[in-house]
Amino acid sequence: MNSQDIRSTFLDFFKNKKHSIVPSAPMVLKDDPTLMFVNSGMAPFKEYFLGNAQPKNNRIADSQKCLRVSGKHNDLEEVGYDTYHHTLFEMLGNWSFGDYFKKEAIAWAWELLTEVYKIDKDILYVTVFEGSDDADNLGMDTEAYDIWKEYISEDRILKGNKKDNFWEMGDQGPCGPCSEIHVDIRSAEEKAKVDGKSLVNEDHPQVVEIWNLVFMQYNRKADGSLEELPNKHIDTGMGFERLCMVLQNKTSNYDTDVFTPLIREIETITHKDYGKEDKVDVAIRVISDHVRAVAFSIADGQLPSNNGAGYVIRRILRRAVRYGFTFLDKNEPFIYRLVNVLVEKMGQAFPELKAQKQLIENVIKEEETSFLRTLEQGLTILDRIVETAKGIEISGSKVFELKDTYGFPEDLTDLILREKGFTYNKEDYKKRLEEQQSRGRKASELKSDDWTILIEDEEQEFVGYDTLETNVKITKYRKV
Ligand code: ATP
Ligand code: MG
Ligand code: MG
Ligand code: MG
Repeated sequence: MNSQDIRSTFLDFFKNKKHSIVPSAPMVLKDDPTLMFVNSGMAPFKEYFLGNAQPKNNRIADSQKCLRVSGKHNDLEEVGYDTYHHTLFEMLGNWSFGDYFKKEAIAWAWELLTEVYKIDKDILYVTVFEGSDDADNLGMDTEAYDIWKEYISEDRILKGNKKDNFWEMGDQGPCGPCSEIHVDIRSAEEKAKVDGKSLVNEDHPQVVEIWNLVFMQYNRKADGSLEELPNKHIDTGMGFERLCMVLQNKTSNYDTDVFTPLIREIETITHKDYGKEDKVDVAIRVISDHVRAVAFSIADGQLPSNNGAGYVIRRILRRAVRYGFTFLDKNEPFIYRLVNVLVEKMGQAFPELKAQKQLIENVIKEEETSFLRTLEQGLTILDRIVETAKGIEISGSKVFELKDTYGFPEDLTDLILREKGFTYNKEDYKKRLEEQQSRGRKASELKSDDWTILIEDEEQEFVGYDTLETNVKITKYRKV
């Protein structure tokens, strides 16, 4: 099944279960002071869960563009190094706003995975909340356990703690236990060696979480206590690219047709092969991932810039440029040339990409050109530092300055210095960096829940912008 069919099968399935299918909300949030980008499928619906707005249909399904590069969910450092975390990804979701609850949510998830997608049930594990003996003093989610028992053998139902199996949006508001569905796609040989159970939630690249079913049944009150919600909700999120990996019998998201056209294009442009050398592979994965994040963001109207969401996007693009520069030997713009393939692949499901194609290409090309200039400038300065050096060790402060002033990354300096037979004082460098970071941290004791509720009855005072290490500006409010 190709990825388009996988997506439409999900939506059709829930349409048949009386869900309204809605398009993805924009990924960039313009008027939410607590969240910069949509980072999960439920974000666009939070007003429904809070009871501040009423949906036309209390059953909805969609594929939501999500970006996890800041705040509570920041997967950026994983991207490219592992094979199943992306910056931008699609979250397939079905929602019940005070309508159906656990019984249907579990039954339908199971039906879709095992009967429609025909995933072998022997590769699936599910988890349920084990309860907590903290202040909440919650019992195990026996309700979910007993429902799962009807579908899957009990030795495949695992119990999980609050961190993995209890979802909260923030300090207050709807919350509840969740059940996650994990797949074990290792070879029979590997399975014989280690029990899959012990690998669930352990960051194994082939024992991965695919679907999270959240059962919102409580409300966390301002004093921290829980009360049962009169109307219970369902919030589910399934990683689309991971689902494609399973259904296409691959062991990496990057081997699915979501990414292979991009990877082939990168290979053609750079004359490098994917799958031969680790560093090249990481670079190719980074670029094929990041071009999606940047392109979708521009399509949503968020251009790279020097602050806020725009700066996050600029950093993602620069990260891609640098991987191309360092590991694929590309010192001329080329990432913009991938937009064509991306639009061909995804333009139908996301028409905004098609509509903004020209703009996306132009902006990326411009950004690449200017950052490559920075990189080259850094190289010239580095040459001069090396020429005038007294010994073979360069001071850490010089390397720090290169990074701080010219945006020239440390690992690149390191690589080049080594090539030239030089070293630098890493401790000194680290010290300078830590000084700068602690300055940044002090400036921003930042809350990073899924969101923070701003209570309407109480007056809010605007207390200004905070600057993170990354120079991302976060608007902060305080109760008065
Ligand atoms: P993980 O534990 O793998 O980081 P998660 O528990 O953070 O996932 P959820 O917040 O439960 O993820 O999101 C729902 C689903 O979205 C996950 O089950 C997974 O399939 C998918 N997902 C989460 N993060 C990513 C990501 N960075 N890239 C691709 N898919 C993701
Ligand atoms: Mg995660
Ligand atoms: Mg998880
Ligand atoms: Mg999860």
